[in-house]
Amino acid sequence: MSVFVNRSLNLKHIALVGFDMDYTLVRYDSTAFETLAHDEAARYLAENRGYPDSVRDLVFEPERAIVGLVIDRRNGNLLKLSRYGKVKMASHGLSMLDFRQVRDAYQNIAVELSDPAFLPLDTLFSISTGVLYAQLVHLRDSGLALPDYSMLATDVSEAVDAVHRNGAIKRVVRASIEKYVIRNPLVPALLERYRDYGKRLFIITNSDYDYTRAMLEYTLDPYWKHHRSWREVFDVVITLADKPRFFEQPGRFLKIDPESGLMSNWEGPVSSGLFQGGWFKPLQRDLGVDGREILYIGDHIYGDVVSIKKRCDWRTALVLDDLGQEIRSLRSAAALQKDIDRMMDRKAELEAVINSLDLDRHAGKPVDRARLDALFDESDRLNTDISARVTEHRRFFNPYWGEVLRAGHEESRYAGQIDGYACIYMERVADLYEHSPKTYFRPQRRLMPHEAAALDGTIQPQAGTWQTD
Ligand code: IMP
Ligand code: MG
Repeated sequence: MSVFVNRSLNLKHIALVGFDMDYTLVRYDSTAFETLAHDEAARYLAENRGYPDSVRDLVFEPERAIVGLVIDRRNGNLLKLSRYGKVKMASHGLSMLDFRQVRDAYQNIAVELSDPAFLPLDTLFSISTGVLYAQLVHLRDSGLALPDYSMLATDVSEAVDAVHRNGAIKRVVRASIEKYVIRNPLVPALLERYRDYGKRLFIITNSDYDYTRAMLEYTLDPYWKHHRSWREVFDVVITLADKPRFFEQPGRFLKIDPESGLMSNWEGPVSSGLFQGGWFKPLQRDLGVDGREILYIGDHIYGDVVSIKKRCDWRTALVLDDLGQEIRSLRSAAALQKDIDRMMDRKAELEAVINSLDLDRHAGKPVDRARLDALFDESDRLNTDISARVTEHRRFFNPYWGEVLRAGHEESRYAGQIDGYACIYMERVADLYEHSPKTYFRPQRRLMPHEAAALDGTIQPQAGTWQTD
């Protein structure tokens, strides 16, 4: 698979490459991982929050949520937004709202994510939150004694948070690591190649040291050609970094003893070794490079990418595990999409003729009624056909939410964030292996609507424009 480019990025000028760990260097089977997170969170709610025991029988349904959705805590809904914050699709419990319900509930709202009434699902780690929330809203509506929608959202996100932190998930992942973690020898090969080309490497992960060590030993150490351990390959490894805070506010570094895992206060330079906590400014100062010479690769749109772009001037790359499926679906649905585009063009033509006849009527000219009726009939038939094709098109994608990166005619909020904050993006970090460490990634020239129309000849210049002939 390829690497996709939003903004020019010359790898030749990158001196340091930083990596997030989970879902970046270490790939998980997301369905297996999120099944575990969902089940452990449901168990946590029953054991610690007084939820009825029956919530433990809920079965994880991976397709009920996608990355980029937002929980609307007031109304118990999941929302899919356009990049402009408009609600394009919504579900309540286990039902999708229809077009009218969405319009009635959200027509005058542009969702601001700074509003605490909304809870974004920003990574693959939050799929379990979305699915469990939808299921609990459904159970509450069916009469089970559960807190209100807003409290449910708080409880679910606290439960998922707790089982990530208290070892409930990580114990199981470590015990059956081959079930949850997908290894790829191209990742260590890429890292060794970057080192051969003189680039320094580092990791900033929110995982703790013990877990980080276990994951890196399993995913990287068996495959090194010229090294024995991941510890020789990375100059600096920062664990429990608490991103996005790491990129936003000061924090103290602790130095970690690699063998015992014991930690001590650290006031010295952070240019090599293992650490916990801290923040980006001393790291960058001690590494002695300009922000533009650092490329940071992560999977979390907010924690890894948006916060970096807002606070530091590092370059960014995003790994999107669901991108491969999206691209395969786009390919399979391409012929259908062409059909839909063709019908939409025809619809626009019909509307133009109908409007021009209406202008004639307005100007007092006689109008051919039979012709107008025929045009309206064709337009109605087209609408029915288009709507059937759009439903068919959605079947190639998530059965509830359709495309991950598109919301109707517009890009989804998630796509808008990728576009705005990631210099490059790819399905897997191993995709970089196809590209030399000297690659100059250049974006395709993007056309604004007037440029596209001028270039494909659908508009003609009028007198008074700058013409040379
Ligand atoms: P990173 O991607 O390497 O920064 O690591 C992500 C870490 O955050 C993993 O250890 C996850 O288990 C953990 N994590 C993911 N979601 C949550 C959460 O909601 N609360 C606490 N930890 C989380
Ligand atoms: Mg990650």
